[in-house]
Amino acid sequence: MGYGQNILEGRVAIVTGAGRGIGRAIAEKLAESGAKVTACDIDIKSAQDTADRLNAQEQSAISCLVDVTDPISVAGMIEAAKESFGPVDILVNNAGIMFRTRILDISFEEWEKTMQVNLTGPFLCSQAILPGMIDRRFGRIVNISSSAGRSVSTLGGSHYTSSKAGLLGLTRAIAKEVSQFGITVNAICPGLIDTEMARKTTTEKELQGFLDSFPINRIGTPDEVGDLVVFLCSDKASYITGVSVDINGGDLMI
Ligand code: NDP
Repeated sequence: MGYGQNILEGRVAIVTGAGRGIGRAIAEKLAESGAKVTACDIDIKSAQDTADRLNAQEQSAISCLVDVTDPISVAGMIEAAKESFGPVDILVNNAGIMFRTRILDISFEEWEKTMQVNLTGPFLCSQAILPGMIDRRFGRIVNISSSAGRSVSTLGGSHYTSSKAGLLGLTRAIAKEVSQFGITVNAICPGLIDTEMARKTTTEKELQGFLDSFPINRIGTPDEVGDLVVFLCSDKASYITGVSVDINGGDLMI
């Protein structure tokens, strides 16, 4: 099998936070590679827009409203995917939020919200999807962490860094338990990627400063993250589990 257009033919995928940014690009790349995609987001209009774009290219997609912090909503998301396309093979935990608040100013609510979306969300989605994957002896879970999780966030506060570091721990712990069932669980750690999250939280001047400091002097694209997700979900990556893969233009080398 080549690493080409149909590398994920017949696979069924769920992507959270797929209404825009990195999540939308992941949904597009998975669909381009032959997967049937359920594009999920807390903003149903944007998720529907993602699904519409895919269906317009004769790919198979539906949208689904999800709040990844709510177990009932998560169960509904998995049911919706199954009903339309059958058992789910691929879960991409991409939905995430970031605040720049410094340690002394972080409210309990903001800390909780960050942990809920960035860490509890992937836990709930993974826990809900795993029984089916274990039964079928196949699965791919990809968690979108961050360079912040490997080191410390340039922009985000300590809650963001902590949640993304926690997600790397969750990735390894689940991988250790379920890889024997043909399920791989991996994380991707993007550096600065050109999305609304990055643009909204950075001034032009800051952005230029970052880019000048990167060995590859540009911002990363959501498509580049999407391509990496496709590889980790493919049969080519069947011996890779419990790892975190950096994609950051050389900004962080550890
Ligand atoms: P965006 O903010 O552009 O997109 C995130 C999407 O997730 C939004 O559509 C958002 O909806 C949705 N979302 C937020 N909360 C929930 C929830 N509770 N349930 C379901 N969906 C939700 O972010 P990016 O595309 O930039 O980031 C995607 C992921 O990549 C995140 O996990 C982020 O931490 C990570 N990342 C991003 C980097 C970057 O430079 N952009 C760098 C490193 C990691 P809404 O806005 O309506 O709430």
